Amino acid sequence: MTGAMLNLQWEAMSLYPAGYFTRQIPVRASVTYPQGWRAATALRGTTAGDTVTYEPVSYDVLVDSPVFAGCHFRAEDLGQGFTLNIVADDARFLDAKPAQIDAHKRLVDQALKLFGSRPFDHYDFLLSLSDEMGGIGLEHHRSSENGVPPWYFTEWASGPGRRSLLPHELTHSWNGKYRRPADLWTPDYKTPMRDSLLWVYEGQTQFWGYVLSARSGLYSKQETLDTLAMIAATLDTRKGRTWRPLQDTTNDPIISARRPKPWVSWQRSEDYYNEGMLVWLEADSIIREKSGGKKGLDDFARTFFAARDGDYGQRPYDFDEVVATLNSIQPHDWAAFLKARLDQTSDRAPLAGFGASGYKLVYTDEATPSFKDVEKRNRVTDLSYSGGLVVGSGDEISTVLWDSAAFNAGLTVGMKLLAVNGVAYSTDELTAAIKAAKGGSAPIKLLVKAKKRIFEVDLHWHEGLRYPRFEKTAKADGPLDKLLQPRL
Ligand SMILES: [Zn+2]
Repeated sequence: MTGAMLNLQWEAMSLYPAGYFTRQIPVRASVTYPQGWRAATALRGTTAGDTVTYEPVSYDVLVDSPVFAGCHFRAEDLGQGFTLNIVADDARFLDAKPAQIDAHKRLVDQALKLFGSRPFDHYDFLLSLSDEMGGIGLEHHRSSENGVPPWYFTEWASGPGRRSLLPHELTHSWNGKYRRPADLWTPDYKTPMRDSLLWVYEGQTQFWGYVLSARSGLYSKQETLDTLAMIAATLDTRKGRTWRPLQDTTNDPIISARRPKPWVSWQRSEDYYNEGMLVWLEADSIIREKSGGKKGLDDFARTFFAARDGDYGQRPYDFDEVVATLNSIQPHDWAAFLKARLDQTSDRAPLAGFGASGYKLVYTDEATPSFKDVEKRNRVTDLSYSGGLVVGSGDEISTVLWDSAAFNAGLTVGMKLLAVNGVAYSTDELTAAIKAAKGGSAPIKLLVKAKKRIFEVDLHWHEGLRYPRFEKTAKADGPLDKLLQPRL
């Protein structure tokens, strides 16, 4: 809660009797909000003064229906039973233009065209424009909690920013809440969940999240490709992939509970999100190629996530059902394909889905606008592919890639850069030195400070500045181009 808004999560505000199925515990909740505030949730209720009394629901539905409330509030009817509920740090951030609201309407339209059915009676986007309340992204069956920076609408033209968040969380209504991995479904909150199918739950949600971002126009096609290039490059150079298979990363939420890691490039992280997406991109390209362009992963989504309209019950699934549904769309050795991607280690990321569309991951000395945008927003200088380090605030190294030139020079996280080739450190001095060293043999001389010690480090990097992007090698549209087109 801040002075202007509230994110009310019922599980933090309630006790329930242990030992019963949560879906069989009826609850009638009521909330008295600060005077003049307005509240939004998937629950419906009656208002008397500042108190809202919500309709009785089962405890699992209550917990799955959080509230965003605030004094600066705006609700937009997106049509088809969807509402965009916005709370903001200040009223001026609520100034969403009709074209921006239209993009969210197209998101709804494209999602319904994709899945073809509605596992909910209505859907409420809860959107907070805040740099005080935190950037939550949390899926629910009939709503989602979405925390974005305050300038989400007011600096729309500056780049897509977090505009893939709503498409991602909306996709979860089908993929995660309605269709739920069998080992992730539990009858109550004391039974441990298991994560073996998160590469479907999150991986395919990442996939549809970006596809729907592109189809709705929340991202341009180029912004989508540039973002995918950053993701592909990160995973393609992640050394941890040589020892840790993708499937094992589904244990990451249990092992590390999202705490920072010192060597993500070696340890890996929740790679089932983005690498899961790459696996589904490859699956889409296989379906399109084998079916002569007649089918794609859209057909899988329409079949696998088919719901009874308005029914927000849950249907669990397992690995075999995923394989069987893929085979019903397009016969292929899907079990072997998925097991290879999930259980085998490899030097390189699965990028065949791009190759089939004539896209090649290349590195050039000019960063894409999307890359620059991420650098700006994160306040870093990202030299991941230009020696293997990221410099954050206070000229401190915030990341070093395992086995990179920076790593082999002895640089590590937390060191402060003082000078480059005898000149006081600045981002420009470092990038200029990296450029000048291209093709040469003399090291870049860095003066660094680690706690109280100051010493010189020779950085042997002679490939200059390198930034990832996709280069289109084929003239014709391929599976990826077709995938990103809006559905009519
Ligand atoms: Zn997710």
